[in-house]
Amino acid sequence: MQGISEILHNTLQQLGLKKRYHAELIMERWSEIVGDDISQHSCPVKFERGLMFVTVSNSVWCHHLFMLKESIISKLNRFIGEKIVKDIRFQAGYLKDCKNQENTEHSVSLKQSLAAIRLDEQELAGIRQYTHEVADEALQKKLAGFTRKALAYNKLKKMDKWHACQGCDTLCPPEETYCAVCLRTVREEKLGEIRKLLLDVPWFSYEDLQPYLSCTRSEFDRAKSELLARLCLEYTAKNGQVDSVHRTTIVMLMESVGPDEITPETVDHTLEKFRRKQHVFAPRS
Ligand SMILES: [Zn+2]
Repeated sequence: MQGISEILHNTLQQLGLKKRYHAELIMERWSEIVGDDISQHSCPVKFERGLMFVTVSNSVWCHHLFMLKESIISKLNRFIGEKIVKDIRFQAGYLKDCKNQENTEHSVSLKQSLAAIRLDEQELAGIRQYTHEVADEALQKKLAGFTRKALAYNKLKKMDKWHACQGCDTLCPPEETYCAVCLRTVREEKLGEIRKLLLDVPWFSYEDLQPYLSCTRSEFDRAKSELLARLCLEYTAKNGQVDSVHRTTIVMLMESVGPDEITPETVDHTLEKFRRKQHVFAPRS
C-alpha cells in the first residue's frame, strides 16, 4: 500500500504546489530558522526560482549576512528537507516597510489568498472521496488540508488578476469592486439612501434624482417600490388612519406629482382607488 506521506508528496508535486508551499513556509518561519539575532535585522520578501530576496536593516548587516550566506542557505534547505534555496540576495534598507508589508492590500500573502478561496461542492466531495480511506484521523485531516490547499492554489492561478474586495479581504474577479457579500451590503445601503431621499422629495423621477445621488434606473425603481410598499402596508394596517404627510407621500410616489400639482382631491381620489384595489386583492378569510 502507498504510504500517506508518499500520497501527499505526489499530490503536491502533481499540482505544482510543493515548491511554492515550501517557499512560503521558509519565508514565514524565517526567524525560527535563522534565529532572533539575524531575523531582527532581516526579512525575506520574495522567492523566485531558487533565489531568495532578503531585505536587511543596513549595509553592515548586509555584509555580515553575506558572509553567513552559505550557512543560512543550508539551514533553510535542512528545514524543508530539500534543496530549494540556491542563492540569497541581500539588500540593505526599508526593513520597516518590509515588516508592515503584510498589512498593505497589494501584498496579500499566498497563505491568506489560499484561505480566502472557496471550494465548490464537487471539489469538497472530491476531497472526501480522496481521503476517506485513510484510517488515521490526524493524517486524514492533514491530507484533506493539503488537498484543499492544492485545489485552492489551482483556482488561485486561474484568478491571477483577482484582487481583494474593497470591503473585506475576499478575492474578487477583476471586473468587480466588491465580493458578493459586500456587494449586497453596498446595494442595500444605496437603496436605503434613495428611499431616504424619496421621503423628502417623493415626486422625483429617476432623472430628477441623478444630480443628487447617482444610481441605476433599476436601483431607483426598486427603492421607490419598496418605499411605496412599506407606506401602503402601514396605511392598510392602520385602516387609513395615518397623518396627511403619510397620505400625501403615498400619492406623490404613486402618481409622480409634485407639491404644486397636488390637491386634497387628488389625494382622496388616489387613495380611494388604492383602497378599492386593496379590497379586490385582499385575501378572503
Ligand atoms: Zn467583501
